[in-house]
Amino acid sequence: MPELPEISAYLRAFEDRIVGRALQRVRLRSPSFLRTFDPPLSSVEGRVVGGVRRLGKRVVWALEGDLFVVVHLMVTGRFHRRAPGVALPKKHAHAAFDFDDATYLVTERGKQKKASLHVVAGEAGLADHDRGGVEPLTATLEEFVTAVTSENRTLKRALTDPRILSGIGNAHSDEILHAAGLSPVQRTRNLTPEQLSRLRDATVTNLDEWTRRLADEIGDRFPEKITAFHPAMAVHGRYGEPCPVCGDPIQRIVYASRETNYCATCQTEGRVLADRAISRLLREDWPRTLEELEEHRESRRRP
Ligand SMILES: [Zn+2]
Repeated sequence: MPELPEISAYLRAFEDRIVGRALQRVRLRSPSFLRTFDPPLSSVEGRVVGGVRRLGKRVVWALEGDLFVVVHLMVTGRFHRRAPGVALPKKHAHAAFDFDDATYLVTERGKQKKASLHVVAGEAGLADHDRGGVEPLTATLEEFVTAVTSENRTLKRALTDPRILSGIGNAHSDEILHAAGLSPVQRTRNLTPEQLSRLRDATVTNLDEWTRRLADEIGDRFPEKITAFHPAMAVHGRYGEPCPVCGDPIQRIVYASRETNYCATCQTEGRVLADRAISRLLREDWPRTLEELEEHRESRRRP
């Protein structure tokens, strides 16, 4: 799932390419991709893009006339830049957004189609899509701690819950917890002030560094290869490989089709967390699927 650093990469690319240009036409391949009917999709056509922004893990285009195009890519959704007017691919493509100089496709590879498009009127309408999590890069230590300890969650759950923190998902939560030397199953209210401060520092550093790293790697190109499994990640997607800090093999917790990666030596005092032994804990307080967390409110809004 594209998270804060990856969404930032898309925003930078869109900032340079579509701001000041008119969105001429939207072509839908999958009707279920569009989750709103009022205002109609056609109402965005011909409007100039005034700006782009991130809302949680969503990409928002602000159009003239106080209309917003809101795209949530979920896990496997991606943007692509193609020649203007390119035919909509038969497979994996949800929609094409036509500008005079380029067409942007939204594709989704997963079996289950979860990515979504909302057309929203006004800032008030847009606020409905704000899940309420604090912005990790701008929140003060106090705001961060208040959010993270507002409920007694496992750290994995707290970091990835969009009601608690904005823009963090499965990949960067693994990286943050490794950098902080904290266990993914540690409860947030059991953390010492020193651990909370370390968690916040690791969160800011991780998101900042990844945003900059992606900017350096992508340069002026459009980000065509956004992935949740970047080879430079320390633990995420690296089960069995050596931890870059201590050299011990990276461990995993597999639950509800999601994998969480951690280093036992660096994060759990050497204890390997047995899937079965912690399954009850996980059932109670684990992101059952990250999609569920993301979709919780969307489901109520569908026409
Ligand atoms: Zn390690």
